[in-house]
This record gives sequence, structure tokens and C-alpha cells, in this order.
Amino acid sequence: MSLDSRQAPDHLSHVMDPNRRIQVLPDVVINKIAAGEVVDRPASVLKELVENAIDAGARHIEVELVAGGRTLISVADDGVGMSRDDAILSVERHATSKIRDVHDIENVATLGFRGEALAAIASVSRFTLATRQADAAEGVEITMSGGRILDVKPVGAPPGTCITVRNLFFNVPARRKFLRTEATELSHARHVFLLYAISRPDLGLVFKADGREVHRLSGGSSLEERIRQLFGAELAPAMRALDRAREGIRVHGLASLPQVTRGDRGDQYVFVNGRPAGAPVIGHAIGEAYQAMVPRGRHPVLFLFLELPSDRVDVNVHPTKKEVRFRDPGDVRDAVIEGLRMALAMGATQGATSLGDSPVRDLMEAGRVTRALEVPDLPSLPAFAYPRMPPPDMSGVVPSSSAPPSRTTEIQPQAAAAAAPWSWCRILGQVGGLYVVLETEDGIILMDPHAAHERVLYERFLAQTLGRDVKSQGLLHPETVDLPPARAEVVRRNLDLLRHMGFGIAEFGGETFLVDALPTCLANSPARLVVGDVAETLEAGGVRGGTERWAEEQVARAACKAAVKAQDRLTVKEIEGLVLDLAKAEMPYTCPHGRPTLIFMGFAELRRKFGRE
Ligand code: ADP
Ligand code: MG
Repeated sequence: MSLDSRQAPDHLSHVMDPNRRIQVLPDVVINKIAAGEVVDRPASVLKELVENAIDAGARHIEVELVAGGRTLISVADDGVGMSRDDAILSVERHATSKIRDVHDIENVATLGFRGEALAAIASVSRFTLATRQADAAEGVEITMSGGRILDVKPVGAPPGTCITVRNLFFNVPARRKFLRTEATELSHARHVFLLYAISRPDLGLVFKADGREVHRLSGGSSLEERIRQLFGAELAPAMRALDRAREGIRVHGLASLPQVTRGDRGDQYVFVNGRPAGAPVIGHAIGEAYQAMVPRGRHPVLFLFLELPSDRVDVNVHPTKKEVRFRDPGDVRDAVIEGLRMALAMGATQGATSLGDSPVRDLMEAGRVTRALEVPDLPSLPAFAYPRMPPPDMSGVVPSSSAPPSRTTEIQPQAAAAAAPWSWCRILGQVGGLYVVLETEDGIILMDPHAAHERVLYERFLAQTLGRDVKSQGLLHPETVDLPPARAEVVRRNLDLLRHMGFGIAEFGGETFLVDALPTCLANSPARLVVGDVAETLEAGGVRGGTERWAEEQVARAACKAAVKAQDRLTVKEIEGLVLDLAKAEMPYTCPHGRPTLIFMGFAELRRKFGRE
């Protein structure tokens, strides 16, 4: 290229001037740079195009990918379409029909508003936009390559818009190199599709990959129907509906019972004002709501929708709008915890009721079910009988009910939280000086008696607290407890809470407290240890005033842990009692801190391992 600036066209003269080092970049370059922020892989292209289709009021959207989106991504909608002039403008950077001025950003009701997606996508691909407004005689088709318009011509097209993106990143080799395998890119793109399919069950949606139809979802569905269409009927019975409003924040959707978990958060779909989005505070709230119920490292399945006034949430934090910021994160946290907790508590109660009224139990009590006696009965190894329930599956999904999926939109309550882990069992002994070995109808179970005891105590204690039926037992020898200043302060602030949970506790001057009674279920434990651990938890939790139930649970959890820690070896009688109590627990499979109480090895698995099948 000639460096002779006198021969350069006028508008490029600054580029050629050897004395000017700072230059304003041409639009094509700016768009390509911006593309780096908005578009990093086929999935992000798909996200922008689907959002545009939804914003255009589409009722039906068809998505197609070839080669994981490297070769082709196309999105066709039946929305409002664009006029010729608007279509040409739409591929300009910062061209948007969705906001007019800076105030609108505070109140965005559409998914898009930055006006940069189409320009960015067009700058890194071979791009075609065909669009027609319903009342227009003909449509218009714009063809672009690397951000430059090649052609604008009239076209016959159905009302709506179809955007086709070919050879993504053909002009950005560095990015193209960073794309993963076709299968990986496709699965990211499918995830994006799922997000919108879940957030908008009212829309008809089609997803095709390499000419194959992967999803065809009919419009006008409820959330439950959509979940069933996407995830199959197995998931439905384990999901609980929730819908709570608190402090102007509504939390609704579906949450899995604690037995149904995944190894990562991939099946937690969270939407804020209809937008797939997360925020650290929501993740923490989910963790807290399930804390005592799922084993560490496991994650429940969630379809969670938060609705709050748009001036209480900032969606303009990130170019891809994946993360939002809340004005009152504490309120959001409380609303999410409360919503989830209510849904799960309801699930547990339903389960307990159906178990309590079970005809099996009635028969057993009448002495007519003798299944336990069908096995060779060793006199020294007593068998316990329980109503028949599905065996625990510590790997995650509990076998779902064999009942055919109901066609109604209602989620079925069968797989309730309360399920005795065995219909009968025998205590075979204890190994490693600790683990209790049980035989059940389905296999062998190892039980950690401490974890089990913690679970049993915790549920008993909490049931009394929540039922306002606290039993307190006076100590023969009242104890004084000295606490570090910060803990003393938090105990002082929570004296009412502790008293209402059955602690006889009073200030004794300085940082010292006098404890003269404990909740009955903890009465055999050293008061000093229990109160000390409770104080530590209260301090660490920074428990907020608004969530009394939450505070109660924290206290109960810490107290039970301390009580169990202090306990000597369990006697055979105590272990028997524990096995019986655990079978009746609402959540028998984990301790209140999420560690497993039971590890199960099924006979089927043993047969496999011994090569018998
Ligand atoms: P934004 O969505 O942030 O406004 P985009 O670059 O994604 O920015 O789109 C620019 C404009 O093009 C939109 O504001 C909208 O007016 C128009 N547009 C884009 N896609 C469609 C579509 N599928 N149907 C109708 N109009 C569209
Ligand atoms: Mg957009």
C-alpha cells in the first residue's frame, strides 16, 4: 500500500498521516472488536438472535445449526419484522428500537437494548437478514460479509425475520481456533435454546441440528408441560411447585426434592424478570436453602423465576447480560430461601402424611404383613419392618414412581421427601468401631451412627421448635459459659430466640452466661459445648432478623452436632433405636450438614460385581 498521504482519499488521510499515532478506528474494526465481547461462540450468537425474535413478539421460532454452528446458525421467527430502512439500520452499531435515552436503561422490559448484537455478529460472519412486515407487499434481504453490506434486495418472504449466520469467525482466525469440537459447541447452543424454551413455554420452538430435528415444542404450554417435554416424565414427580412473594420480590417455579441432585449446577435454570441470568446471591441462597438436605457437592434441579420491579435490578452489568445486580441483595436472598424452603417443607409434609396413612402400615400394625419373617430369621439379629418405599440411591436420582405420567399439568406428589430407606432391615453389627451394617430387602447399608443421630435429633428439635412445643429440661448443675466478646454479643442479641427454643440462658455479667436448662432432646449433652457451638454458628452466619426460621435451623443444626460430638459409644440398644428413628425421619439420607447418613450397596450391584449377570 502506498504511504503517500496526498494520494489517500480524504476520509483516510488521518490513517496515513505518519505524525498522528492516535486514530479513531473505522466502524468495521470497532464492530469486530465489540464482537469479541458479545459473541464468543455459536451459542452466544444464538442467544442474541433468539432474544431478538422474542423481543419482536414472535409466537414461533425455528433454530437451525450445522456443524455445531460453525457452518451455519439460522433463526427464523414470525415476529413483527422490519421495514427496509429499519433493516439496514439494525445492522449498525448502537442501533436499537428498544430504548430511546439513558432513562430507559433503568426500565428495560425487552431482552435486548444495547443495539450491538447484529452489528457484531455481521462483522464476524457471512450474514443474511431477510425480513418482512405483515402488511408489506414484499420483504427485504440484506447480505453482508465481514461487516460490509454486499447487497440489499427485495425478497418474497413470510412475515417475520430470518437471520442466517454462515462461517462464523471466518475473518477472525484466532477466535475460530478457540472453538471447541462441534459436539461441544452444539451442546452449548442447545443449552441456550433450553433456557428460552423454559422461560417461555408459551412459544412454539423448533431446534434442528445437522438436518435432524432435536426438539419440536408446541406453544401455549405450562411450565410443567414444557419441563416434561424437555426432560421427560421421570423428573416431574420429584419437583415441587413454589410461588412466594416477599418484600415485592416474587419467586416462583419448580424445585427438586433433595433426593434428586446433580453433580454440578447445570440443571439450575434461573431467570430474573424473564431473563436467564444469575447473581452470586441467588447461588448462595439456593445453597443455604438446601444446605441440610443434600450431600456436599450435590446440587438440586431448579427452574426458578424471580420477578421484581425493574428499578430494583440492574441488567446492564455485563455485555451478554448473564449477570444482574440487585439493589437489595439481602431481600432477594431471603425471598429465594423462603420460597424454596416452603416448597420443600410442603413436599415433606405431603410425604409424611401419605406414609402415615399408608395401607401397608395399617396392615403391618395389624400383624398381617410378615415379609420380614420370610428371610431366615436369626434370633440374635432382630428384623425391623417398615412400609415398603423406594430404596435410597445415593448417586442422585431416586427411582421414580412407576405410575404412568399424568397428562395434567399438576406435578405429582409420589416421590415425597419422607421415604423410609428400607421396608425391613436387620442390624448385622458394627465395623471399624463405628459404622453400623444393615441388611435390607434390596442390599447392604452402611450407616454412620453419628450422622444418623444428628439427623434424628435435628428433626425432633426442629419439629418441637416449629410446633411451638418446646420441651426444656432443667440442669442438675447449672453451668456458666464464657464466650469471646463477639460471640457473647451475638448470643445477647439472640437470647429471645434461644429461650424460645428451650435454652434456659441468662446474662451473668461480662461475657459470661448462665445456662440452667437445655432443650430436652439435648439434655444429656454438656451445656458449655452446645452453647459454645451455637454461639459460633450465630456469629458466623450473621443471621438476619427477617428469617427467624432460618436462625432456628442454624441453632438446631449446631446444637445437635455438638450434642452428638460429645456422645460416648452407642450401645446396641441405642443403635437399634437410632435405626428405627432414622427410618421415620423426613430426610433420612443426610445429616443436617449434608453428609450422608447411609451408604447403600444393592444386591443388583453386588451381582454385577461378582460377575453373576
Ligand atoms: P438490540 O436487540 O439490543 O436492540 P440488536 O443489534 O440485537 O440490538 O438489534 C437491533 C435492532 O434490530 C433491534 O432493536 C430491533 O429493532 C431490530 N431487530 C433485530 N432482530 C429482529 C427480529 N428478529 N425481528 C424484528 N426486529 C429485529
Ligand atoms: Mg438484540
